[in-house]
Amino acid sequence: MPGDAVDSQKAGNPSVHTTCPYCGVGCGVLANPDTRKPVAGDTAHPANHGRLCVKGASLHETTGQAGRLLYPLVRGRQSAWNHALDEVAGAIRDSIDTYGPNSVAFYLSGQLLTEDYYVANKLAKGFLRTANVDTNSRLCMSSAVAAHKRAFGADVAPGCYEDLELADLLVLTGSNAAWAHPVLYQRMKAAAREGRRVVVIDPRRTATSELADLHLALRPGTDTVLFNGLLRWLADEGGMDRTYIDAHCQGFEEALASSRSAAPDVVSVARQCDLSPNDVETFYRWFASTPRTVTAFSQGVNQSVAGTDKGNSIINCHLATGRIGKPGAGPFSLTGQPNAMGGREVGGLANTLAAHMDYDSRGARARVAGFWGTSEVADGPGLKAVDMFEAVHRGEIRVIWIMGTNPAVSLPDSARVREALARCPTVIVSDCVAHTDTTALADILLPAAGWGEKDGTVTNSERLISRQRRFLPLPAEAKPDWWIMSSVAEKLGFGGAFDYRQPADIFREHAALSAHENDGERLFNLSGLANLSNAGYETLEPVQWPVLPASRSTDSTRLFADGRFMTDNHRARFVAINTVLPEQQPCDEFPMIVNTGRVRDQWHTMTRTANTPRLLAHRSEPFVEVHPHDIERLNLVEGHLARLTLKKGEFVGRVRRNGNQRPGEVFIPIHWNRQFASSGVATVLTESVTDPVSGQPEAKHGVAAITPFRTSWHGRLLVRHDRPRRWQSDYWCRVPLQNCDSWWLAGRQPVDWPTAAREWLGGAPQLIMADAARGRFRAARVVNGQLEAVLMVDSDPGLIPEVGWLDGCFAELELSAVSRRALLAARDVDVEDPGAIICSCFQVGEKQIGAAIEDGALSVETLGDRLRCGTNCGSCIPELRNLIAVSVSESA
Ligand code: SF4
Repeated sequence: MPGDAVDSQKAGNPSVHTTCPYCGVGCGVLANPDTRKPVAGDTAHPANHGRLCVKGASLHETTGQAGRLLYPLVRGRQSAWNHALDEVAGAIRDSIDTYGPNSVAFYLSGQLLTEDYYVANKLAKGFLRTANVDTNSRLCMSSAVAAHKRAFGADVAPGCYEDLELADLLVLTGSNAAWAHPVLYQRMKAAAREGRRVVVIDPRRTATSELADLHLALRPGTDTVLFNGLLRWLADEGGMDRTYIDAHCQGFEEALASSRSAAPDVVSVARQCDLSPNDVETFYRWFASTPRTVTAFSQGVNQSVAGTDKGNSIINCHLATGRIGKPGAGPFSLTGQPNAMGGREVGGLANTLAAHMDYDSRGARARVAGFWGTSEVADGPGLKAVDMFEAVHRGEIRVIWIMGTNPAVSLPDSARVREALARCPTVIVSDCVAHTDTTALADILLPAAGWGEKDGTVTNSERLISRQRRFLPLPAEAKPDWWIMSSVAEKLGFGGAFDYRQPADIFREHAALSAHENDGERLFNLSGLANLSNAGYETLEPVQWPVLPASRSTDSTRLFADGRFMTDNHRARFVAINTVLPEQQPCDEFPMIVNTGRVRDQWHTMTRTANTPRLLAHRSEPFVEVHPHDIERLNLVEGHLARLTLKKGEFVGRVRRNGNQRPGEVFIPIHWNRQFASSGVATVLTESVTDPVSGQPEAKHGVAAITPFRTSWHGRLLVRHDRPRRWQSDYWCRVPLQNCDSWWLAGRQPVDWPTAAREWLGGAPQLIMADAARGRFRAARVVNGQLEAVLMVDSDPGLIPEVGWLDGCFAELELSAVSRRALLAARDVDVEDPGAIICSCFQVGEKQIGAAIEDGALSVETLGDRLRCGTNCGSCIPELRNLIAVSVSESA
């Protein structure tokens, strides 16, 4: 039960086998209850074989209680659990009694464990009878799900990670795997061999492109044209498997006719996609001639108004060549979130019921109701995420319970989502973090257990179920999500159906609901685990579904190898694809295309990863990557700020020069939010347009106007942790460091710095250096011999020094004479400024790497020997290669 001592500690076990809570790769982690000891990759885990990326390798640094939500809060007041649960149950009961079941909604998360997800789905659909249950996986995976269901008749990824290594041709489309799925990328890279080819399809040349033998920088949104053209090519030029199509598929002629119409020849494809005909033809020839081909796709495909069609246009080409479910062959969807698949297994998407049964699956509603012991379940699909928050805005949903996610940042048109939550009568948020853009709008806040404190299972992109294990005690009043929901169920009079004592009870029930005798009915089936003992659950090894009882057991590694699919007639469906371009197109008012995406060292809305200073060192501020031609054309300045606007939305970021993207297009990161930056939320530039089949928003693509964000000064302020904010500025970005908080600041109006410094530093500074002619000012305040605050101002942000060395000064019990001199000089007299951090593991900066390259270190290996960069997780290797390449080309 929650609050019990932790078994691993009782047993004195130093390392616990658990799973990383970030991306869908689902790496195995060895964690230690003594969180001063670093985590390690689990060599026995089949997803990562011991590798971790820098995010995973920093997990032990994120388990502290700083910033945690530790007590229930009801309308801002700390409350006992009993009172908070009464308030939640009362709001739900009142709303259903007055406005009906669908006035209540649950918005769940791919960060929840499967057991938590199961309880949420059962409570909502089975007992509250609201169909309005959806999840942030709608923003990540739902187009891939819809494409799989259209083609295969089931939400099933046919292949496994090994296929990405076995493929002789690996096509990566809409995926910067080097940053978004780093360990899987390392596996792909390690599989390089003579004759193996990689094609990367992406409007930008990203870190992933270092693997590419061919990079197709296509016009955004034209993926279906490219793959329609491929289908036509296979039909006309050779490479098609007619025997396979005739034996196992349907709808081929219609799909081919659409392809001919949308992409009649290579020249037309090249023109529509803005590619060279030679490159298009090369890709088609390679695909046609390589039986072992995998096409891996991710958010660049899914997060689109035509995401489902894009997925099906890829699958069409694999069906046409019979390359499904075979070693090294198949389409492969790279999942963004750690438990997107587990959530779908229980029915977390609004259009599904439970255990991969849809509302219209024959007999499903009665079967699920009978299994749960309720008279009936919700009567049909509910609202998908974007529509759900619109219904909140209209006042039709009056109680929304949000768990482990931050929709006020992550949903498109997030300003409207905030408006919706602000006007909703009851917003309940379960989270482990106290201050997010969403918790700020909650009426009732419930402290949930975080990673390391909760117990359950997750499913990764290759259908592999792994245990997340608890190795830390629950802090203060935090509770597991399943316990919170079961307690509310009890308050509402449904306690008998939610009488769980531990996650294993829930897992067995989930497995039993999935069980069915007829293997042609559904592929998702955990009947082999339905009688798992508590001890068996505790020691459960990673296992790929379906998991059948021993007597019926089959190989789950790859599915559909026999050409028998889950459609009514067991034939896979080709889907006829027409061209649908992005809804938001550039225009005179908003001429730039905005591409959004992840950065290497951050995760989602930064609630966990921003707690680790070394993960912020790689990219510490919101930024906008701009092509050099556009920098010049638009009077932008590299390193200064730029403003992107769309109607009412504004994003301000630092300009980074990037010649690896198309002119007229910019890239911005998705992570920053209102807790960390004044105007860093990317979703203010993406509108609520969705794919008509999946309901997934077009979050990858927006448009905007871009102008310089003109300022008269730039500053960096460092203040000892937990001091009140006293500064004022038009732009700010918070960058927590180890021993202090720091901010980037900038303002439009001139400031009287001696006066402002006294206010902003919390008292009169002792060390001051002012150079009014250069617009330069430095001040430091020392209290009882210890550094309290530092302010550095300049007219050019490039002249403000890096602050890593200053963070160390805050740790000095008595500020040394050397540090005092360095403070006035605004640089460390002993240590060279490393520049922007490239290698997060060993904190190696761009300037250090540049100096080593100049000194002859012209390979990643030599750099590693000299500086250690790139020798641990390997996430920075593409950037190291790029720095070497740029240096070599500049000196040529
Ligand atoms: S690749 Fe993904 S799952 Fe693996 S350690 Fe990195 S973030 Fe975690």
